Amino acid sequence: MKVAIITGGAKGIGKAIAQKLASLSINIALWDVIDEGEESAKEIATTHNVTSTFYKVDVSKYNNVMDTVKKLLDDFKKIDIIINNAGITRDGLLLRMKPEEWQSVLDVNLTGCFNCTKAVLKSMTSQRWGRIVNISSVVGITGNFGQSNYAASKAGIIGFTKCIAKEVAKRNVTANVIAPGFIETDMTSSLPDEIKEAYQKQIPIQRMGKPTDIANAVSFLISEDASYITGQVINVDGGLVM
Ligand code: NAP
Repeated sequence: MKVAIITGGAKGIGKAIAQKLASLSINIALWDVIDEGEESAKEIATTHNVTSTFYKVDVSKYNNVMDTVKKLLDDFKKIDIIINNAGITRDGLLLRMKPEEWQSVLDVNLTGCFNCTKAVLKSMTSQRWGRIVNISSVVGITGNFGQSNYAASKAGIIGFTKCIAKEVAKRNVTANVIAPGFIETDMTSSLPDEIKEAYQKQIPIQRMGKPTDIANAVSFLISEDASYITGQVINVDGGLVM
């Protein structure tokens, strides 16, 4: 059975991805900073009859990530798939943005992606099979008012992924990006209703996305059917950006 790490997997998009991969009989290593991950991992194991283990880890901390990968390799013996999904927002206009709001978003979203990918790459290249899927955002392509830190981190993920894709392609490891649009999770639930309605009006498919919409795209990119696709950015956004 294949083994997948999903970062930020305790809830939202990450949890939906974990559930989808588990439904394909893939063992799950759920990584998150929140304790809810313990319950989510148990729920996934029971529903899908796979091994699903929670690891409390902060992806922005290099040593924490390296130590967790060592432990995971003791537990599972291999790593086949990583979904770099952990992410945060600290929105604000640049004029008012504090350096720590800039830094924390870059640390989790972009450095986290670097830390986790670096930590698993040797396992994947030495077994000559691997799938890396990095969760960016359409905001990393278009920019957005009040999100200069977030957009920079998400655009960085795109450049990072294209480099990795070139470096590891000959080892049968693919690396791709999914850029979600506006998805119903805790990250978007706190937005005022008028902002949500304004977004919705711009989406040709006329609804917000669901975490399962992202999970379905991930399940394709990690499949054998996607073995000739690497270094690509797939927008899953109801047509918002085209
Ligand atoms: P979410 O509901 O907030 O879930 C993200 C999870 O990652 C949370 O459990 C979060 O914990 C965790 N996390 C935060 N910092 C972490 C760290 N340092 N190490 C490990 N885990 C950490 O967010 P979501 O909406 O599912 O978003 C998932 C990904 O999709 C993010 O990368 C986000 O940027 C991206 N995305 C989302 C949307 C959207 O509309 N929802 C659109 C485009 C892209 P806390 O709750 O403590 O922060």
